[in-house]
Amino acid sequence: MTKAIDKQQNKPEVSMPVQYLKGVGPAKAKIFAQLGVETVEDLLEYFPRDWVFALEPIKISRLRADSDVTIVGLVESMDYVSYRKPSMFEVQISDDTGTCRIVWFHGGYLRKQIKPGDTIIASGKASLYKHQLQMTNPKFMVVGEKSSNPNEYFSGGVYPASAKLSSRQIKQIIKPVLDDLGELVDEFYDRKFLKQAELIGRKDAFGWIHQPPDEKKLAKAKRRLKYDELFLMQLGLALRRYKVKHFSSAVRMAFNNKIDSRIRKRFPFLLTEDQDGAIEDIVVDMGKPEPMNRLLQGDVGSGKTAVALYAALLAVANKCQVAIMAPTEILASQHFINIERYLKGSKVSRVLITGGLTGKKRKELLKQIESGQIDIIVGTVALLQKDIKFRKLGLAVIDEQHKFGVHQRAKLRKQVTPHCLVMTATPIPRTLAMTAFGDLDVSIIKHCPPGRGAVITRLVEPSDRQKAYEFIRQRLKAKKQAYFVYPRITNIEEKSDVKAATDEWKILSKKVFPEFAVGLLHGQMPSAKKQQIMTEFRKGKINVLVSTVVIEVGVDVPNATIMVVEEADRFGLAQLHQLRGRIGRAEAKSYCFLFAQTDNEVAKDRLEIMTRSNDGFEISEHDLRIRGPGELFSARQHGLPDLKIANIIEDYKLLAMARRNAFDMVSHDPMLKQTEHKNIRRALLAKFGDSIGLVDVA
Ligand code: ADP
Ligand code: MG
Repeated sequence: MTKAIDKQQNKPEVSMPVQYLKGVGPAKAKIFAQLGVETVEDLLEYFPRDWVFALEPIKISRLRADSDVTIVGLVESMDYVSYRKPSMFEVQISDDTGTCRIVWFHGGYLRKQIKPGDTIIASGKASLYKHQLQMTNPKFMVVGEKSSNPNEYFSGGVYPASAKLSSRQIKQIIKPVLDDLGELVDEFYDRKFLKQAELIGRKDAFGWIHQPPDEKKLAKAKRRLKYDELFLMQLGLALRRYKVKHFSSAVRMAFNNKIDSRIRKRFPFLLTEDQDGAIEDIVVDMGKPEPMNRLLQGDVGSGKTAVALYAALLAVANKCQVAIMAPTEILASQHFINIERYLKGSKVSRVLITGGLTGKKRKELLKQIESGQIDIIVGTVALLQKDIKFRKLGLAVIDEQHKFGVHQRAKLRKQVTPHCLVMTATPIPRTLAMTAFGDLDVSIIKHCPPGRGAVITRLVEPSDRQKAYEFIRQRLKAKKQAYFVYPRITNIEEKSDVKAATDEWKILSKKVFPEFAVGLLHGQMPSAKKQQIMTEFRKGKINVLVSTVVIEVGVDVPNATIMVVEEADRFGLAQLHQLRGRIGRAEAKSYCFLFAQTDNEVAKDRLEIMTRSNDGFEISEHDLRIRGPGELFSARQHGLPDLKIANIIEDYKLLAMARRNAFDMVSHDPMLKQTEHKNIRRALLAKFGDSIGLVDVA
């Protein structure tokens, strides 16, 4: 047998470019490169997207119409009908139970391949033609001295192909490589572990994924390769985390009962159990000489800001500065207002830095920050700009809402290594918490503070629009306030019938609710104007606020108890959940009306969950299942290798197991130096490069 890899060039290498494989060459290598395949290793990991299995041959007498079958028979006669369109090659085959006609359209070329007296195996669909059973265009093989096992020919992987490189060609190129698996593929784990985890060997897994002998073995191969993929990803995360924890240092924050009670006095309420739990995590983290790297998760209004302020005051008590950053200026100023409320009369100095702050005033402030006169600095992520220098930044709080920016955090770390608390109102499904955010510790606030009214959510049929308006009018008369949210500011295309905030604001203010004050707020307004509108709404001077999703973040007006979302099907569920979090912030009952101009049942079903559930985790899991991890989870974006075979949702159990084992391994052998981890280490470096720091500390 010809070896794919020339034995004279030593042992086969996974790093060898595919170009040197039999049947490839420079031209095909270029096509492979477009498929992301550069080396032999890439080729081995170029998994089929589908697999076919030929069926066991059956006797001709047992053929039934419209069934997929494989039969074996002797070619009795053949004929080529070229005058008909399409032309037709046909043979008559027989076994000891009967005869069957096989037809191939455009089959002229088969005259050279099949002759009477041959035994052939044919696999395909049987059908009735003029009361006779026949097979049309089956796959076939002439059985020579070779084995008559049809699997060898018909079965196997179907590869994601390109126009210039067919699945069949890929299969032919991979086939001989598989003969070298013994030398190409190294095992990662010892026998004992494989047995206990019910995983097959790595070499078998590669062999079977490309050429599965049967479906059971294919399933085993998939399981093993998925596990490895998830394991390496988790190992990368575990190492990244280990590196942050052990190779950078942070200020150790002293803590005692006196500090605790002094901070608690700042809150006009008792902290909830969940808040206390999160604070406990944070106090432990900040008490260590390594930087905290914690994600604080909780619905809008669950009380994250209070927790963050607790952490901030702990840092201030330790003579450190704190930066609190939000994605938008509205949100930053909202935070600042909240903080001001809590800190009234306190000696803690704090500032809000906005884009509007320029010139001398800005310079003066920056100087005060640099000299350490200011304790708490609130702003947008622009605080990370170079011209702001802190004297001693001990804690960075990043409120990311639903835009998680791993990059921002990385930037922050380069400058200094403060403790880092990331807040998010998007419930991150457990699957993502283990992957995209797998190097963070997580604290969760599940239950909102007491005194929150229920939020009733309804999907409103277009025919009930007027009824909904009337209902809202009654509420407005009772001095409640309402949000109307639209997916767009304006419609750029003339004829689009997507409702947009600016246009609908006119209709609502002039026609629907002329007796009330209807305000407009969107992201393109100048920031002073936005502030003004927000203030008026907060004070109750505006009854109805027409807006885009800018209100999703940071608006806290307990008297607003009605939320209308137009074109609701254009929003992600997690986003709708966040929007809805703007209401239900006081004891009064709140109402969320979702309008969708769609007849699409899937879209409606998707929205239905909003009417059934108020649980952000449930909603985001649901969303993830419908939309797939692609949109929410891009591995690359998080500096992780892309997943080729595993799926974080479907393979959740394997993911959890891989995570446990990976973190366990790192805790025992952080640099993967033990000889038994040699192969894993090599594979990991190949996947992550040196980004996880294995190289620099080796
Ligand atoms: P988040 O940042 O999670 O959106 P906030 O911290 O802004 O939530 O809290 C939302 C509202 O709940 C604020 O008005 C805050 O004063 C109030 N609040 C926070 N914690 C408590 C608590 N333990 N008891 C009562 N009210 C609370
Ligand atoms: Mg908040």
